[in-house]
Amino acid sequence: MITPTASDAHISNVGWRFDNTYVRLPDVCFAMAKPATVERPQVSILNHRLAKELGLDLTAMSPETAAALFAGQVLPDGTQPIAQAYAGHQFGVFTMLGDGRAILLGEHRTPHGRLVDIQLKGAGRTQFSRGGDGRAALGPMLREYVISEAMSALGIPTTRSLAVVTTGESVYRTSELKGAVLTRVAASHIRVGTFQYLAARRDEPSLRVLADFAIDRHYPELAEAPRKYFDFLRAVADRQASLIAQWQLVGFIHGVMNTDNMAISGETIDYGPCAFMNIYSPATVFSSIDHAGRYAYGNQPAIAQWNLARFAETLLPLLDPDQEKAIAIALEVLGEFSAMFERYSLAGMRKKLGLQTNEAEDVEIIQSLLDWMQKSKADFTNTFRDLSSEELPVGDRYLDPEFQTWHARWQQRLDRDGLPSTSIYATMRAVNPAVIPRNHRVEEALSAAEDAEDLSVLHRLLAVLSSPYEVSAETAPYQAPPPDDRNYRTFCGT
Ligand code: AMP
Ligand code: MG
Repeated sequence: MITPTASDAHISNVGWRFDNTYVRLPDVCFAMAKPATVERPQVSILNHRLAKELGLDLTAMSPETAAALFAGQVLPDGTQPIAQAYAGHQFGVFTMLGDGRAILLGEHRTPHGRLVDIQLKGAGRTQFSRGGDGRAALGPMLREYVISEAMSALGIPTTRSLAVVTTGESVYRTSELKGAVLTRVAASHIRVGTFQYLAARRDEPSLRVLADFAIDRHYPELAEAPRKYFDFLRAVADRQASLIAQWQLVGFIHGVMNTDNMAISGETIDYGPCAFMNIYSPATVFSSIDHAGRYAYGNQPAIAQWNLARFAETLLPLLDPDQEKAIAIALEVLGEFSAMFERYSLAGMRKKLGLQTNEAEDVEIIQSLLDWMQKSKADFTNTFRDLSSEELPVGDRYLDPEFQTWHARWQQRLDRDGLPSTSIYATMRAVNPAVIPRNHRVEEALSAAEDAEDLSVLHRLLAVLSSPYEVSAETAPYQAPPPDDRNYRTFCGT
């Protein structure tokens, strides 16, 4: 075990400013927790760029000190480690859960005054661990690191990843794996399931405190609103509508949209069996456990609405003392969700096709492109990128008369906008990524890190993913889709 000595001072001096608000919530909302002692912590990867944004300077820290810090072996001043209580519908089945393998060290105030959760995932057992070991394996933690950082670079709201350290201990799943801890940074970890936990306990006073807390933290503009819980529900729905639209616009499939994996802040959270679609098909599923396709690419808006209905149910007592009236209010908001989503989705698709104005015909132009992509098994990312150039798209697929008819119609539509083509295609290249975390590239980087302790493949991947809208000599190998991903499966890694 590491026994940090003189270096301890650095741990608190790197710029931490803990201001823990969650521990002031009612006791039922959390349990005290202590990161487990581990054998031999070692840094796998540190996110210096994120550290800087958070006002932390990790550069002066020795690797040993950083490893001890991000394995939870030494705690900076001001931390108050807890495990948060929550419940969740997992594939539709309700369960009382809680952080079984994650420990919230505390909330850190950034130089911009933003409060962020600093959480160690895989830091050992807590009061909510049930039969689990509280640990995490290196592969899935690096996977979360890569994909969350890629999502952030794509401009999509997400939790971030500050560090991954290995523990020097094994975790046992279907095989023996290297143990690791991920440091996750989030606007908060309040989930739909956090509200469900209190609602299931019929603890209305605590529920009201939690709702006010979430409003203060994520929707402060609503704090004084006359119908603040109604506005809160609607604002959460609106952020989810926006988020799911953004996922779909880049081909992202979360994979496990259980209500405990939906954040009230509107950030993408809990990167388990997530993956990016290659060939466009709404039914795409990669998760090994999603047999029925509940969380398929095209189902995500409907599932978000289902999750929001579960959220609305928890808020009923706050919406109106009269339950009938409360239900009517909740239904009003839920009924708006589809229109909210369609608005974000259509606006995003217009941008992807360079359309600056709104015409009724746009919906059909978009849909017929998607239909053609599905029929001709076109790569989602590359098709939009191919369209984002002044030159005609190159490749046999584009010789298809159906595509050519579509293309001519789209060109006429662009002409009606009357903008110079240079500016149209430049705006398209700013929203249609050239590089996404292709599944085979992610796997390749994780294998090198896990099997050969070679992080260089991962670092190269992260470098291209950090500027997903730029093309260079380095990006070309990362733009090619895999030859065939029909048998590609992702796992929860729990
Ligand atoms: P996840 O699949 O990561 O969203 O986790 C679902 C629930 O299972 C959460 O309550 C986790 O804390 C819990 N969990 C997942 N893996 C473990 C583990 N290895 N030990 C204890 N609890 C776990
Ligand atoms: Mg989860």
